[in-house]
Amino acid sequence: MRKSILHKLQEISGSKYVLTAPEDLVCYGYDAQHVEYCPEAIVRAGSAEEVCAILRLANEEGLHVTPRGAGTGLSGGSVPAAGGLVLDLGRMNRIIEIDQSNLLATVEPGVITADLASAVEAVGLMYPPDPGSIKVSTLGGNVAENAGGLRAIKYGVTADYIKAIEGATPTGEFFKAGAVTMKSVAGYDLVHLLCGSEGTLAVFTKLTFKLLPLPKARRSMVGLFPQLTQAAETVSAIISAGIMPATLEIMDNVTIRTVEEFKKIGLPIDAGAMLLLEVDGASAQVVEEADKAARIMTSHNASEVQIASTHEERDKVWEARRSALAALARVRPTAILEDATVPRNQLADMVSEINRIANKYSLTIGTFGHAGDGNLHPTILTDQRDKEEMARVEKAIDEIFNAALQLGGTVSGEHGIGFAKSRYLACEVGPGALGMMRTIKSALDPKGILNPGKIFTDQTT
Ligand SMILES: Cc1cc2nc3c(=O)[nH]c(=O)nc-3n(C[C@H](O)[C@H](O)[C@H](O)COP(=O)(O)OP(=O)(O)OC[C@H]3O[C@@H](n4cnc5c(N)ncnc54)[C@H](O)[C@@H]3O)c2cc1C
Repeated sequence: MRKSILHKLQEISGSKYVLTAPEDLVCYGYDAQHVEYCPEAIVRAGSAEEVCAILRLANEEGLHVTPRGAGTGLSGGSVPAAGGLVLDLGRMNRIIEIDQSNLLATVEPGVITADLASAVEAVGLMYPPDPGSIKVSTLGGNVAENAGGLRAIKYGVTADYIKAIEGATPTGEFFKAGAVTMKSVAGYDLVHLLCGSEGTLAVFTKLTFKLLPLPKARRSMVGLFPQLTQAAETVSAIISAGIMPATLEIMDNVTIRTVEEFKKIGLPIDAGAMLLLEVDGASAQVVEEADKAARIMTSHNASEVQIASTHEERDKVWEARRSALAALARVRPTAILEDATVPRNQLADMVSEINRIANKYSLTIGTFGHAGDGNLHPTILTDQRDKEEMARVEKAIDEIFNAALQLGGTVSGEHGIGFAKSRYLACEVGPGALGMMRTIKSALDPKGILNPGKIFTDQTT
C-alpha cells in the first residue's frame, strides 16, 4: 500500500492503530473457513467518524475495504479476498445502554455476543441469539451474517432482534436506519436489508437490539439413538406434538466420538446419534414438556433418554455440542463445514443423502447441527494439500448443496455466502433476485470498494 495512503490512515485513527507488520497481516488473512488472503494493511477504527473517513479515503484512492469483527465467520466474509485494507471493529466494544423499560440494548459493533448476553441476564433479561461461537464472535459480525444459534428454533435469529443500525455507507456517509419503537414502517426496511449483508453494503458502528424477559425455568435432556436417521425423524415428531424446544440439536456418531476424545466428558461413543434438547418457560410447563419430549424420543427408538438434573449435567450437555466443530477440526489438517438447511420434515432424507455422499466419495463427514431448524453442519475432514482428495471433496460439496436444494432447502442457513458459496447462490435464488441484489450493491457501492469478492461470483480479485 502506498505510503501516502498509510499516512492518511494514521492521521484518521492514530499510527498505533494502523498495522502493517507481516505477522499482523497474516493474522487478519483468515477466518474459521479454510481459504486465506493477506491484506495490505489493517486499521483498528475507534469511532463512527473514523469509519466514515476511512471509507471516504478508500473511495478516493480506489482501496478495497473488508470489515472484520472477531473473524469466526464460516464463509470467508472477513477475509480480504481482493487484498487492500481490513477494517477491524473490535476496538468499538462498549455496551452503551441496557434500557429495561423498553427492553432494548444499544452496543458498539465489537461487543462480544456473550458479553451482551451476560450483561442483560444480570438484570433478568435475555438476548436470545446464541451462535456456537458466542464467546468470541462480535455483534457486528452477527448482524452482518444474520447469525443463528442453538436457540433459533424457538427464539429466531439475529434479524428477529435487531431494531436499529448506525454506520457508514460504502462511500463514507454516516446513516441511521430503523427505529427503537415497537413498530415502524417509515420507508424501506433498511435494517433488514443490512442484516445479513455480509459486510458488503455498510459498516455498522452502533446497533440496537430487542431483549426478552429471561425464562423462569429450563430443562435439558439427551436422547441416544441407534441410527442418525431415527434421531432426525424424531425431530419432526417432537414439533408435531406441539412442543417448541428452546434448543434441539443433533450429533452423529463421528461427532460424538470426536468430541469425547477431545473433552473426555463421558459421551456414549457407541450411540449412532444424539438429540440434545432444552425446553424453557414457566416451571410447570417445562416439566410437562420435558416429560412429553422424553416419551416421544423413547417411542421413536431412543435407546436411552437422560434428563439433566443439575446445572453441571446441563453444562455438560451443551459443552458437548459447542465443542463439536473444535473437536472435529483436530482430526485432520482441514475441516470444511457446510450449513445446508432443509425444511424440518426433510431432515431424515438430508442426513441419508449426506451419508450416501460420504460413502460415494470415501470421505469422513461428521454431521451435527441445529436439527430443530433443519440446519445441518456436515463437516468434511480432509487435507487441502491432498489434491486428489480435495477433488472428491469438491464433488461431495456440490452434491450436498444440490441435495439440499432438491429437498426445498437453502445453501446457507446461517453462515452466509461469502466467497465459499457464491457459485451456488444463483442456483438457489434465480436470475431475478440475483439481479436485484447486484443492483442494490452497485447503487450503494458504485466503485465496488466494500468487501469485494463476496456473495457475487464475478467480482473477485
Ligand atoms: C465454533 C464456531 C461455531 C459457530 N456457530 C455458529 C452458529 O451456531 N450460528 C451462526 O450463525 N454462526 C456460527 N458460527 C459462524 C460465526 O461465528 C458467525 O458468522 C458470526 O456472526 C461471525 O461474527 P464475527 O464477529 O466473527 O465476524 P467476522 O467473521 O469477523 O465477519 C463476518 C462478516 O461480518 C462482516 N462484519 C463484521 N463486522 C462488521 C461490521 N461492524 N459492519 C459490517 N460488517 C461487518 C465481515 O465483513 C464479514 O463479512 C460459528 C463459528 C465458529 C468458529
